Amino acid sequence: MSVLIFIDQAEGHVKKSSLEAMSYGAKIANQLNTTAEGVILGSAAEDLTALGKYGVQKIHHVNNETLNHFDAQVYTKVIAQVVEAAGSAVIIFSNNMDGKAIAPRLSARLKAGLVSGAVALPDINNGFIVKKNVFSGKAFANIAVDTPVKIISLNANAYKIVEGEGTAEVALFTATVDAPKVKVTSTSKASGEIPLTEAEIVVSAGRGLKGPENWGMVEDLAKVLHAATACSRPVADAHWRPHNEHVGQTGFAIAPNLYIAIGISGAIQHLAGVNRSKVIVVINKDPEAPFFKAADYGIVGDAFEIVPKMTEAIKKMRGVA
Ligand SMILES: Cc1cc2nc3c(=O)[nH]c(=O)nc-3n(C[C@H](O)[C@H](O)[C@H](O)COP(=O)(O)OP(=O)(O)OC[C@H]3O[C@@H](n4cnc5c(N)ncnc54)[C@H](O)[C@@H]3O)c2cc1C
Repeated sequence: MSVLIFIDQAEGHVKKSSLEAMSYGAKIANQLNTTAEGVILGSAAEDLTALGKYGVQKIHHVNNETLNHFDAQVYTKVIAQVVEAAGSAVIIFSNNMDGKAIAPRLSARLKAGLVSGAVALPDINNGFIVKKNVFSGKAFANIAVDTPVKIISLNANAYKIVEGEGTAEVALFTATVDAPKVKVTSTSKASGEIPLTEAEIVVSAGRGLKGPENWGMVEDLAKVLHAATACSRPVADAHWRPHNEHVGQTGFAIAPNLYIAIGISGAIQHLAGVNRSKVIVVINKDPEAPFFKAADYGIVGDAFEIVPKMTEAIKKMRGVA
């Protein structure tokens, strides 16, 4: 019986969300008095033994080229084989795109109870109870999981990365890998940007900016803060910004350390995707804008005056010309 953590990669690098998942899984393993093990699919550019510092004792590496391209169905079957061989009782995913695609499939395949979007360690004193956000982050639910195999997907930024000492044993795992049923014929990558879901700081803007021609000041502020850019849904719907920047109930759900919202009213559907941010700064000319209720810091005023001044002030602070 072990705790198995799915380790997600992007271009051969382990994602930050997986470092959180490993730290979280290692703590659960510690609580259950068992081992924490990782599973990684496809080629790995990094030294996997070094992942031991996040608490995993062993890594099952399925080094098969087919797995270099994500396919939820293929991944699910491979992970199920690792679960069976490792005798895993608890399986941890990040609650990101990949985790959302695999965890429910694995849950159906293994008849395992699944809690998606966990925000805390399970309470194991009285069964196995996992806390998660519900109603777009407006409430919490405590879910009791009583199946022999349990699956949890962990929300981004819900558990701190714990870095210690130690190396992991890397074991090559030979799995039966199906040919994918769908073929990716081409991909295009948004270049030069910080991925929104991994970003520590996000600068986001809404309809208050009047038009796409005014986004230069948002990008300038994002650049000086090393932040990703985001937007409200109407902005993406109007093609002012690409849809991969749309946050909210129907867009990406993010949880950066700092979220700066410029000219966004703060509709409930927008808040649903950003209200787990650690610190929220709102810039809006309307003092009654609902977003101020969710803000840690608010600036009432015209974004066209405030944002360039903020950028200049930060540049000065950082000694950037
Ligand atoms: C089913 C459903 C799902 C939805 N999903 C999403 C979602 O995922 N994400 C999302 O964002 N929305 C979503 N919406 C839409 C949501 O309800 C709001 O309509 C939307 O978030 C509003 O976008 P906004 O704040 O950019 O625009 P507005 O509501 O038009 O707000 C613009 C704000 O800018 C301020 N402003 C104007 N000029 C300035 C200035 N010069 N300086 C500073 N401030 C200024 C105004 O005071 C105002 O508060 C959804 C709606 C539905 C019905």
